Amino acid sequence: MKENNSFDIAVIGGGPAGMMAAGRAAELGAKVVLIEKNEILGKKLLLTGKGRCNFTHNELDIRKFAEKFGKNRRFLYSALSTFGALEVINFFESRGVKAKVEQGDRIFPENSNARDILNVLVKYLKEGKVYILLNVEVVGFKEEDQKISYVLLRNQKLSADKYILCTGGKSYPQTGSTGDGYRWAEQLGHTVIPPVPALNPVKTSESWVKELQGLSLKNVSLKLFKNGKKKDERFGEMLFTHFGISGPIVMDMSKNIGDLMKNGPVKLILDLKPALDFKKLDKRIQRDFQEFKGRMFKNSLKGLLPLSMIPVIIALSGIDPEKKVDYIRREERNKLVHLLKELELTSTGLLGFKWSVVTSGGVALKEVDPNTMGSKKIKNLYFAGEILDLDGPSGGYNLQECWSTGYLAGQNAAKH
Ligand SMILES: Cc1cc2nc3c(=O)[nH]c(=O)nc-3n(C[C@H](O)[C@H](O)[C@H](O)COP(=O)(O)OP(=O)(O)OC[C@H]3O[C@@H](n4cnc5c(N)ncnc54)[C@H](O)[C@@H]3O)c2cc1C
Repeated sequence: MKENNSFDIAVIGGGPAGMMAAGRAAELGAKVVLIEKNEILGKKLLLTGKGRCNFTHNELDIRKFAEKFGKNRRFLYSALSTFGALEVINFFESRGVKAKVEQGDRIFPENSNARDILNVLVKYLKEGKVYILLNVEVVGFKEEDQKISYVLLRNQKLSADKYILCTGGKSYPQTGSTGDGYRWAEQLGHTVIPPVPALNPVKTSESWVKELQGLSLKNVSLKLFKNGKKKDERFGEMLFTHFGISGPIVMDMSKNIGDLMKNGPVKLILDLKPALDFKKLDKRIQRDFQEFKGRMFKNSLKGLLPLSMIPVIIALSGIDPEKKVDYIRREERNKLVHLLKELELTSTGLLGFKWSVVTSGGVALKEVDPNTMGSKKIKNLYFAGEILDLDGPSGGYNLQECWSTGYLAGQNAAKH
């Protein structure tokens, strides 16, 4: 053990990755300090899953889990096999927070409260006697001979044998994730893949979108087109907002939208009835029109669409809302079918880092040992969490990445 102001391990950033790293290192007997510039730990964690914290995903097969991280999936094999979804569920359950599986295999704490997850982590830190510094900002590093000798705080230095960098990405900077770690990683000789917003709401140009603000649609399909070619397709839930569209399928597609938008506008095609092909949907509408014989068009769509969407679809169809359904011509019906199956949206951009759930890009993985999370450039430096060039879809994947890499970094910094 060290004297009061010198530590075995300094963890920078008190988010999910940093708390897990610090807790695990302390559990193994290291004297650990956790440095956080906010007034509390886990500020972003408390916002996750709309305050309910979708803390992992119900996928226990490590390879299948890692696949969600695309080309960088192999980097996660070791971290996930050491501390994967099953270990995370056990970790929280053994500390009194039961897991529940919800739609789409998303896993939440039983009481739907992110604070329960944070409380477990804070207790874990306290059990390990982790020295927690709040309202303390790291402003720089001193490096000599490929080793960090100390970190600079605003008014003082702090030294440790090892350092774990867990400062997160650049998304939701209002929670403290301002990308500081990327700058230091570069100064220390690491390559940083340029950070871009991922899991981001999408702005659209169509004026009718505003009228649907707040409307959430389930079981719809969204396709992404560029120059007439389909580039992506997602099925599930989405949401209309005052600026455009959001919700799980939009967020998951946003990285591809952002990439494709670099070379001009992209089209999105929303299928409101993916379970019915054009023919079947036409038959269904004909049946509805039979049922509503003698009634006005505007009163015939209740079985087909959410209420707030009816005036929008009617306006886009160009069909007189007061026309009796009996007099609606085949071409008019065709137009309606097309609108329901191919509602066009034009993306004008992403909402940016301020509202992106994760950051894509970060510390290049080829310069980090996947078995230890240790830097291949600096002898006593480790990385964990979103600062790494890893980002997954929505569904609990990103927090799991933090738990896995944080645990492995803490464990190895404590052991070696
Ligand atoms: C609104 C929202 C909802 C989300 N919901 C989910 C969800 O339900 N499921 C899921 O899996 N993922 C979710 N995510 C993503 C998830 O929150 C992140 O992947 C995760 O928080 C990243 O953890 P981290 O520890 O790497 O970084 P962060 O959580 O960003 O923590 C980094 C910490 O480092 C501190 N720090 C930064 N610079 C310094 C410095 N210079 N000195 C000292 N401290 C510093 C910051 O203040 C911050 O507290 C959500 C994200 C957002 C924004």
